[in-house]
Amino acid sequence: MNKKYTDLLDFDKNHVWHPYTSMSSPLPSYLVDSAEGVHIKLASGETLIDGMSSWWSVLHGYNHPKLNAALVEQSTKMSHVMFGGLTHQSAIDLCEKLIRLTPQGLDKVFLSDSGSVSVEVAMKMALQYWQSKEGQNKSNNSKTKLLTVRNGYHGDTFAAMSVCDPVTGMHQIFEQVLMKSYFAPAPTIEFNQAWQPKDTEALAALFEQHHNELAAFIIEPIVQGTGGMRFYHPQYLKACRKLCDQYDVLMIVDEIATGFGRTGKLFACEWAEISPDIMCLGKTLTGGYITLAATLCTEEIATTISNGEAGCFMHGPTFMGNALACAVANASIELLFENNWQQQVSVIEQALQGLLTPLARHERVKDARVLGTIGAVECLNSVNVATIQKRFVELGVWIRPFGKLIYIIPPLIINTEQLVSLVNAIATVLDEDACFLID
Ligand code: PMP
Repeated sequence: MNKKYTDLLDFDKNHVWHPYTSMSSPLPSYLVDSAEGVHIKLASGETLIDGMSSWWSVLHGYNHPKLNAALVEQSTKMSHVMFGGLTHQSAIDLCEKLIRLTPQGLDKVFLSDSGSVSVEVAMKMALQYWQSKEGQNKSNNSKTKLLTVRNGYHGDTFAAMSVCDPVTGMHQIFEQVLMKSYFAPAPTIEFNQAWQPKDTEALAALFEQHHNELAAFIIEPIVQGTGGMRFYHPQYLKACRKLCDQYDVLMIVDEIATGFGRTGKLFACEWAEISPDIMCLGKTLTGGYITLAATLCTEEIATTISNGEAGCFMHGPTFMGNALACAVANASIELLFENNWQQQVSVIEQALQGLLTPLARHERVKDARVLGTIGAVECLNSVNVATIQKRFVELGVWIRPFGKLIYIIPPLIINTEQLVSLVNAIATVLDEDACFLID
């Protein structure tokens, strides 16, 4: 590594805050020079096979000619114009696609900047809906609380934090200032297990007890990601929809991590054949190019809010409907279909079933599971992040585990040989004591 790189890394270490990282003793960061296809090229010379899709977001690989061209073309027209009083074709085309592709009934689209913000918007929509419906006189509106399940994760902003798992959601420190939500136990019946209706008994009891206070129920469909890569039974999600209907509670589905094919369906809701009242999308929306999120809702919600006291929905980010982000999102969605995403996902899923699930037999492993393009190895001990990360880089792969989980969620364009390299690297570190903590 030449001096320039070490200087950059030095500055980074001393001044640049990274996600969930201490500023006084930060975990090492690796300097990236460029990325192409499924490869991340480090400034130090190594080329790594990407197993993370940059936190689930990259679908078609890095530096994709079609996505690059969409950005260039849009930038020659305009990169951004305010969305208040102005609109543009890239945003309109994108919203048309989202309405067409998402489950039936989601006809209104609110664009925003990031996944967490789209969750804030969803929660605000639900609260404003009941406020508009019941609260000509504000004191009449009792539906001001959210219900969710444990092990959930919905983002890092304040309202989103209030519906993250109080323990695994990483936000316990703020507990005193967070809105109080109700938490049901996490789903326990796994995706492929025999369904048992008793799994939703505690949830049903909370609906029964608190429905008069509940504005909405929020859940990640089928996959609880940050809460442990838990794949739960579609019947659970179906039951959630029924309970929301029975008790007149809005259903918010957070598809930020699962949307656009990740679980083997275009949207994970499809496993349960349900339509939520509100849906959040993010991450893969732009194929991992730029931050953009969307909150979709029903006609009924939009009309009720619009006819309410405020006469409008009370939200409007500066970069709402950013033209570059919308243009690249349109191109990414087109690529999904041009590339036959279902075929891509099923090739990855079958390869991971054959390669990764046998790791369940390793003495250090509690469970190894696969759904769509998601492969997770749940270990008995927590990983030593700095050591395991260094070993993965030495082994030529980019995999960033957390807690007891080593997981991969590669770009859809990955080939079998590259998947073998990812899984071999996981198998190698499982044999290395230094990569794990004794907890
Ligand atoms: N919801 C889910 C299910 C997520 O996985 C994430 C991000 N990991 C978020 C919300 C927050 O999205 P963002 O990081 O873009 O704010």
